[in-house]
Parts: sequence; structure tokens; C-alpha cells
Amino acid sequence: TDFGFQKIPEQEKAIRVANVFHSVAARYDLMNDLMSAGLHRLWKRFAVRLSGVREGARVLDVAGGTGDVARLFAGRVGSRGEVWLTDINRSMLEIGRDRLLDEGLALPVVQCDGERLPFRSNHFDCVSVAFGLRNMTRKETALAEWLRVLRPGGRLIVLEFSRVWKPLAPLYDLYSFNVLPLMGRIVAHDAASYQYLAESIRVHPSQEELKELMEQVGFQRVEYFNLCAGIVAVHRGYKF
Ligand code: SAM
Repeated sequence: TDFGFQKIPEQEKAIRVANVFHSVAARYDLMNDLMSAGLHRLWKRFAVRLSGVREGARVLDVAGGTGDVARLFAGRVGSRGEVWLTDINRSMLEIGRDRLLDEGLALPVVQCDGERLPFRSNHFDCVSVAFGLRNMTRKETALAEWLRVLRPGGRLIVLEFSRVWKPLAPLYDLYSFNVLPLMGRIVAHDAASYQYLAESIRVHPSQEELKELMEQVGFQRVEYFNLCAGIVAVHRGYKF
């Protein structure tokens, strides 16, 4: 199937994204480990370290899913800080909340759309979005909303799949369009959702395009860091 994500109406995309994550929620963590050979854990650690978040900080994790990134931030901010785990999808959040509780971490959890946040302006020291921006229907609206809730001096951290180094592209395409859907079918009994993953990566902005988009929206000192030859990139931008 070619979903042709650029061409479908916004509402339809939102519904498809919701279905994808309801469908994969139970196997989501296992699939992440398998698909990335465990590397997603290192990428998330790198992104959190790059945030420079310290004890006592207020952090908002958007599209936080099963809570990997929120958990890492919680270890940094300590008992004086706050970390909010938010996502549009209830199934993902329930798994995340239960897992964090099992580990003795009780974080505030809010089901909300990353493009319309129920938080006041100028509040957070850091907003993080790991593998979530790709799923937003209106990226500019979403980025502007994250800028709004950041306090002056606060920063946005975006961890996302990006453009892989050109010589590796054929190999990467082979992996993402053939191996991934196969893994999805065998492990998560859902090839279509992992086909969607490959498609959505292909149409996502490149490193430079995302940097420009962040600057247009009003972020400053925007930089990005490639990981694994650009398979993923971490973008950081400040609100001043
Ligand atoms: N951040 C987590 C991680 O890195 O493991 C989860 C990433 S998962 C690939 C993408 C998440 O984005 C899903 O949990 C999905 O429900 C969420 N999502 C999709 N569209 C969203 C939206 N408009 N607002 C908030 N979350 C959204």
C-alpha cells in the first residue's frame, strides 16, 4: 500500500495516525527495540542530555507515548521539578502510566493534542517531542504552540527520523520498505502501520528544512545534531 500521506486530507491523516497507535500500542516498546536494535534508547538519552535540563526544571513531553523520554527527564529534574507526559492516544498513555507506576514514578499524565495544548503560556523550561512531530498534521501550528508554552530562555528538543546520508539511502530504503513491514507483520501482526512509518519518514522535512521551519516560527539559536548518519536528528531551539 502506498498511503501517499502528503495527498490525503488533514482530518483523514489524524484518524489514520490515531488508528496506527491504537493498533501498535501493546507491542510498541518491543517493536522499537527490534527495529532500531535498541538504538532508540541511546538516541533518547542523547536528546535528553542535549536539553541541558537540570534539577527543579519544568518539562513537557509532547507525543510522549509510553513514557521513555518522560522517565529520563524525571531522573534529571528530581522531586522539585515537574515532568508532564502527554499524548493524543489513550492506549499509549495507559501503557506508559502503568509502566512508570511500576517503576515507582508517578508523573502527571494528560491526554491532549500536541497542536493545542491545555497549558498556560511561558511556563515550561523545556518541551520535548520524540518521534512525534512527524505525526502532527500542521507542523507549524504545533511548533508555534510549543513556543507559546515555553518560558523565555526555555528550549525545544525535537528527536525525529531525518534524511540519512545519501550513500546509505538505498540500503536504508530497502530496510524501511521491506524489512520493517515484515517485522511489523510478524511481531505486531500489523504490517500496514509499519508501512506507514516508512512513508511518514520519507515525507518528513530534512534536517535543514526543519531548522528553517523552527526559525520561521520564532525559535532562535536553532541547531541540529545527526545521529547514526542522519537516520535520526535532534533539533534544539530556544525561545528568547
Ligand atoms: N515519544 C514516544 C517515544 O519516543 O517512544 C512515542 C513516539 S510514537 C512514534 C508517536 C506518538 O505520537 C504516539 O504515541 C501518538 O499517539 C502520538 N501522536 C500522534 N499525533 C499526535 C498529536 N497530534 N498530538 C499528540 N500526540 C500525537
